[in-house]
Amino acid sequence: MAKTAETLDFDKLREECGVFAIWGAEDAAPCTALGLHALQHRGTEGAGIVSNQKGKFHFHKAMGKVGDNFNSAEVMEKLAGTAAIGHNRYSTAGEKGVINIQPFSVELEFGAFALAHNGNLTNAQDLRKTLINGGCIFQTTMDTEVVMHLTAHSRAMDIGDKIIDALSQVEGAYSIVAMDATNIYGVRDPYGIRPLVIGQLGKAYILTSETCALDIIGATYVRDVEAGEIVTINSKGITSRKFPRLPSKRFCVFEYVYFARPDSTIDGRHVYSIRKAIGRELALESHQAADIVVPVPDSGIPAAIGYAAQSGLPFEMGIIRSHYIGRTFIEPTDQVRHLGVKLKHNANTAIIKGKRIILIDDSIVRGTTSKKIVQMLKEAGAAEVHMRIASPPTTHSCFYGVDTPERSKLMAANHNVEEMRNMIGADSLAFISIDGLYRASGEAKGRNNAKPQFCDACFTGEYPVRIFDKDIEAKVA
Ligand code: AMP
Repeated sequence: MAKTAETLDFDKLREECGVFAIWGAEDAAPCTALGLHALQHRGTEGAGIVSNQKGKFHFHKAMGKVGDNFNSAEVMEKLAGTAAIGHNRYSTAGEKGVINIQPFSVELEFGAFALAHNGNLTNAQDLRKTLINGGCIFQTTMDTEVVMHLTAHSRAMDIGDKIIDALSQVEGAYSIVAMDATNIYGVRDPYGIRPLVIGQLGKAYILTSETCALDIIGATYVRDVEAGEIVTINSKGITSRKFPRLPSKRFCVFEYVYFARPDSTIDGRHVYSIRKAIGRELALESHQAADIVVPVPDSGIPAAIGYAAQSGLPFEMGIIRSHYIGRTFIEPTDQVRHLGVKLKHNANTAIIKGKRIILIDDSIVRGTTSKKIVQMLKEAGAAEVHMRIASPPTTHSCFYGVDTPERSKLMAANHNVEEMRNMIGADSLAFISIDGLYRASGEAKGRNNAKPQFCDACFTGEYPVRIFDKDIEAKVA
């Protein structure tokens, strides 16, 4: 029997998630459900909402998509309250099942407390062992639970200080939203690797992963939470404090390349515009005579628009995507992934027959998608297929919250560009340079090697946060 996304074993310790928190709204839970719906691309495995009704917390968690599970009056009535936090889970960290769906909600010495996390901690296993040796009982296999225990153990007086105390012991990438009886909190790790923004809707405040989750409820963008900042939101408004001794910021450049929604703006940079600029840079860096520019939809579309504008070639939807199947990447066996690509994309034969095609995709990870698509275009009669990739070669795994396979499965970690071209079956293959990617992302001088402005570990192998947990470390090699 073919394995489905639900039955597969996951060998990784990572998660890609979306978070949302709202304070001071009569319809806190419906707003949170809508926000999570806008963040669905950050995680489709499961979702959870915890609401706060005058200090009493209610929760609902379910496997599957937000729209399928948070759509009934019954669920929304259960989630009464004027504040709420919510979470979309992608997969992989810990085991599957409702027990591992966030937010985590517990009763601490100071009352009810809930927390949700996007990112990945790189010393969670070590901390977990120490906590277990000290008598802590863990209910889940999620690294986020470590933060809960550390918060509970903190001797600081104020809950915000307890959270800072807890987070000063963890390493890795995280954007966290948390809630107690009277406040919501938002924290971004010292490098600001994952996104987190503040919004406002009337008198209500919002903390969420991306601005697209503000747009859906008509909230206005206030600002990004800064790297290493913890904000507290309550009846007095927003207060802010920072971790001591902050390093330079290193936001994840892959959020701009692929992961974030194109209509979001992160740290003042509009994701769609960056993707278009990447396409323009690609056209300048690796020009090729051709008839049309074709994206692999949807992720290759903005870069293909940029490439077409720069090269003067017509943009054509030479591949049509079915929107009724999930991302191919979610099914992690070669057998199912192979099937997934066929289900997802179809050649628009009348458009591509006899044409020399510039084919644009955002990235090559294992190479499965590119190989299938090139073959599909050739079978449909394309004269030539020149593949252009809107990111540099993915040579290293991510340990900061983007799901990537270990290095042995990364095509670019094991083959040079010519070998990859040959394996994919394209007539030519080129990737944007790391400097081109930085230029497209608004860094006019490219990557400053002494002090890079982004986390680009997946392309360079330079990991800004040390990898402490041994089994993660083994996968870096
Ligand atoms: P692959 O087929 O393994 O080379 O994967 C490349 C495809 O997966 C590209 O078309 C990307 O759009 C997509 N992709 C890249 N990284 C991720 C990720 N972390 N999660 C989900 N999809 C991804």
